[in-house]
Parts: sequence; structure tokens; C-alpha cells
Amino acid sequence: MTGSLGTRLLLAAMLIGLPCAVFGQDLDKRIAAELSSLAALYKELHTNPELSYFEKNTSAREAEELRKAGYEVTYPIGRYPDDKYTCYGVVAVLKNGKGPTVLVRGDMDALPIKENTGLPWASKVRMTDITGEEVGVMHACGHDMHTTVLIGTGRLLAALKDKWKGTLILVGQTAEERGGGARALLADGLYERWPVPDFAIAEHVDPSLEAGKVGYCPGWAMANVDMIDITIRGVGSHGARPNQGKDPIVISAEVINALQTIVSRTIDPVEPAVVTVGSIHGGTKHNIIPDEVKLQLTVRSYAEDVRQTILSSIERITTYTAKAAGVPEGRLPIIDGGVEFTPALYNDPALTERTVKALEPVLGKENLVQIKPTTGGEDFSEYGRTSHKVPVFMMRLGTSPVGSDPESRPGLHSALFKPEHEAVIATGLKALTTAALNLLGK
Ligand SMILES: [Zn+2]
Ligand SMILES: [Zn+2]
Repeated sequence: MTGSLGTRLLLAAMLIGLPCAVFGQDLDKRIAAELSSLAALYKELHTNPELSYFEKNTSAREAEELRKAGYEVTYPIGRYPDDKYTCYGVVAVLKNGKGPTVLVRGDMDALPIKENTGLPWASKVRMTDITGEEVGVMHACGHDMHTTVLIGTGRLLAALKDKWKGTLILVGQTAEERGGGARALLADGLYERWPVPDFAIAEHVDPSLEAGKVGYCPGWAMANVDMIDITIRGVGSHGARPNQGKDPIVISAEVINALQTIVSRTIDPVEPAVVTVGSIHGGTKHNIIPDEVKLQLTVRSYAEDVRQTILSSIERITTYTAKAAGVPEGRLPIIDGGVEFTPALYNDPALTERTVKALEPVLGKENLVQIKPTTGGEDFSEYGRTSHKVPVFMMRLGTSPVGSDPESRPGLHSALFKPEHEAVIATGLKALTTAALNLLGK
């Protein structure tokens, strides 16, 4: 390379890189100015988690914050089937001239987990869930972080209005953990009452990555999720005279073991699939054979034929195991596969690539990590599955201490999940704001 060509290339690189660097510094300053109020908001949300379908205070808080930031807020919105629950969805819109429409989504619900982090802002909340059971409640999936970052991004994009054109739609979504929130918003006219977005983006925390890192996975990224309730019915009797009944506890044990053969014996070994029995409840006392046992399963898959094979195998195994035990026709198992379903998440490859390219100069190439698909599920997928075929992309936001042992990091849905909150808020804001700006018109 000659000196003059080298100089020209360097100059060209500086000219290309300079606006990004300047923008990055400006963004850093703005984020620094917001950080303490957002960290306080995050702690407030973390201390006061609410279960799916009960996000009354969280959503009201979010609506209030976005209104303050200058958005036109519609709240509450969303419709669950049979109007069984109130939907507390939040839609906040900022119109800023002619240009693309970009939807940014953050979910807000917490989980039935008793927190065990010992943090000063740990949750001590207990709530009655949809089954009527009282449970400890914790933000163990980081939806408090998603809400915080969505509000922060809303503030920044309102302040940076001269840097973009178009329509920004911020969506505070409820009931992600029960796979119902996105559908409820779409059922209430999200794509009819507001412009259909040209793109939809979101973030989800990820303890497998260090704080400061952002993960991406083009194409299929998260699995189909089916939640299934099974009631194994038998015939109750005295524990001392099992011959007079049909023991549903023994049948359940056989069913659970037989279910393990679905993935290992009937699914193509190169296809991802999971069958987990996550709960089993039956009986009241040592010496009573109960007349039913309840099981709760989760099934994960990517391909629709794999999903269908698993669902039909569960039905076949459960029914015929009960028949083999001599359960009468009228007492065969009840299998409810329609409890919850979340379709697999497909990150639009072109949108993923475009966003990652925009993030590189702002976050640094070394902080962007291509990750593998997971068997986790996310109903953010729903925003891309209507007839409008909106391209969607969900980034993963690292939460673990830098240099920590990957084996010792508490995962999502763990009572010990504890993100490095300030660093995560800062990176989340930077990534989401940059991604939205890159998609909105100039
Ligand atoms: Zn979760
Ligand atoms: Zn989640």
C-alpha cells in the first residue's frame, strides 16, 4: 500500500467512522444522564413484581412514564379469549413525520418464584395466581429490565427527534410467561388501530452472556412451546386393598417414564425436541389410593411435524398406559393440550444483519456475539406471524458479571437470577436506541 493511498483510506475510514463515534459519545452522555433514574425505576419494578394477567401497577407505571416522555399512550389495551382477564397492555406512539413505522416491544410480567438473591431490592411479594394458589413472585426472567429499557429508549428517542422520521410504537406487553400477551394485543387491533409496523424489535436478557454483550441469532432462534395439563384418572380405594381400585399414582409413574421415550425413540435425532414433566400432584394421605393425579408438561420443538408427533405420542402413551392398567373407558386420562402455546421465533435474517451492522460501531464488534438457537420460547414471535409478515428481531442482552464462570451463572427462571443491572440498562438502551434509529427514516 502506498503512503498516499493509505492516507486516503485512513481519511475515508475516519469520515465514515466519525459520525458513528460522535453519535456514540452523544448517546453515552444521554444514557449516563438517565442511568440513575432508570436504575431506581428498575429496582422499584423488581421489588414489586406482578404475575402474568395481573400486571395492574407495572403497566400503569409504564403508561405514566411514557406519557411523561411525550408519547400518545393508549392504556389499557388487549383482549384475552372469553375476556377472562383484564389485559393491561400499553401502546405508546410518537409520530414524527413521514417515514417507516417501527415497533419496539418490552414485556412486563413476573414469575411464581420465591426470590432468593438476598439483594436489598429483592421481592418479598406473594400473590394469588390464576389457579387460586398463593405463590412467591419474582422478576426471574428480567421483564423488569425490559420495561426499564423500553421506557429509557422511549425517553432517548423522544429527545433525539431531530435524528429520525417516521412513527415509533412502543409496546408494553403483559402475560409473556403464559404465552397470551402478544395475542391479546393483536386481538385488540394492534395492527388495525395503529399503523402496521415495517419492523418489530425487542430485547431479552441472557445470563449466558456477560453484561455489555449483545447476542443475535439469525433465522429460527427460539422454539415452539406447548404447555399441556394431564389428569390421570383411576379408581380410588384403601391403600391396604389396592386390588379394589385402579391406582393413578402407579399409572402416572409408568406414563412419565414412557414419555421419556418420545424424544429418544420417535423423533429424528437431528431435530431439536424436549418433553418435560414439570409438576405432578396427587393424593392426600399414606393409606389412600387417590382417584386422580395431575401432571403438567412442557414440550419444545422447532418443526411443526416434530411438534405434532410429540403431541400425538403424548396422547397415545397416556391413554394406552391407562387402558393397559384396566382403567374403565369412562375414566381414561384427560389431556388438555390447549393450555398455552407460543410459536417458534424467527429472527428475520436481513433485519438481523442490518441491525448488527448498525450496532457494530456503537457497541464494538467484540461485544456482538452470534449465539445458537435455544429451546426457550418467546411470544414476541407472534408479532411476525400475522398476515402482514412483519420482519421481527429479538436481541439477547448479557447480564452476568464480566469474567464470571459460565457454569456458575444462575439462569433465567432461577430464584438466584441477578443481572448486573446498571451495565445491562446502559447496554440495553444503547442497543435498542441505535437499532430503532437505524430503522427509522432520517
Ligand atoms: Zn421467562
Ligand atoms: Zn422472558
